[in-house]
Amino acid sequence: MANNSQINLNLTQYLEVEKIGLGAFFPIMGFMNETEFKSVVNEFCLPSGDIFTLPIVLDVDEKLANEIDIGSTVELLYMGSVVAHLIPNDFYNCDRSLVAKAIFGTDDPNHPGVKHFISLKPVFVGGLVKLLKRIDTGIWHDKLTPADTKNIFRENKWRRMVGFQTRNVPHRAHEYLQKIALEFADGLFIQPLIGQRRSGDFTPEAILTGYETLINGFFPKDRVILGTLSTFMRFAGPREAIFHAIIRRNYGCTHFIVGRDHAGVGGWYGEYDAHRLANKFEGKLGITILCLSGPYFCEICDSLVTEKTCPHSGTDAVKLINGSDMRQILGDGSFPNPKLMRHEVIESLNNIKLFMDE
Ligand SMILES: [Zn+2]
Repeated sequence: MANNSQINLNLTQYLEVEKIGLGAFFPIMGFMNETEFKSVVNEFCLPSGDIFTLPIVLDVDEKLANEIDIGSTVELLYMGSVVAHLIPNDFYNCDRSLVAKAIFGTDDPNHPGVKHFISLKPVFVGGLVKLLKRIDTGIWHDKLTPADTKNIFRENKWRRMVGFQTRNVPHRAHEYLQKIALEFADGLFIQPLIGQRRSGDFTPEAILTGYETLINGFFPKDRVILGTLSTFMRFAGPREAIFHAIIRRNYGCTHFIVGRDHAGVGGWYGEYDAHRLANKFEGKLGITILCLSGPYFCEICDSLVTEKTCPHSGTDAVKLINGSDMRQILGDGSFPNPKLMRHEVIESLNNIKLFMDE
């Protein structure tokens, strides 16, 4: 019955605490209790009815869980500093395999999202979180909080704001989608997801340097905001696309782009599964999801196009553009086709570490 009033967080957990505290996961104000967890996993919403598609959990080992009292004030520590208070209201576990199937569509541990989920410590602690202090995690720490971006959008009188999620150095397909957004919106908020990353992923430095180059050279700078979102990729495909949209709503965006295979990994999801889930929740998210297809470069059209604007899909004229291919080409030390990635972007990465180590 010894009372323990401290939990040491790892980086992933700290970033969750921070995002909760900053309102990035609103209406989530803490770690989910079992009722909320089950509702999100099974019904895609919180008990209140608000759509929420992914569980937000704090995992601890059994011994620690036994030492913590419900209703007490627990200090959450990261790197030796108290960063938040947690008021625990529930301790629970779940059938990891069953829940993984519901979230990821599979319980195959070769799926990186499943692998992470099933390796979480055995007990989940629910409870309200109060963020006391942010720690500079050294990974291009989020400069812009939800309060900051909402202020910027308001000051500029931007009413229609499009959010864009990415994990890649900018390529022409993403640029095309971003420019579609700029055609009809007041502003564009490009918010690359950084945080704990797998080896072989682009470094935050590479992604942000690439974007700075692109924005400075090829975008109307006064209508584009570059931020970062430090959280881990869950690789939950369609569910994560909705989650990403909810987060951008909380940063003040009115629209969010979901392209091909959003938050997918290694072919686990259909290319447009996320569009289908987005359509299901249309009008219920407080943000409009722009379901955009393609794009690709077509040699006959001699431009970037999508299946909606080009009749040559399925022919050799089509040059697909995706983040994985770009990673491989750059990783080989080769120069991607400038139709697919701007040479100014590639050159700006010359002296920058491109990929994460293990
Ligand atoms: Zn064409």
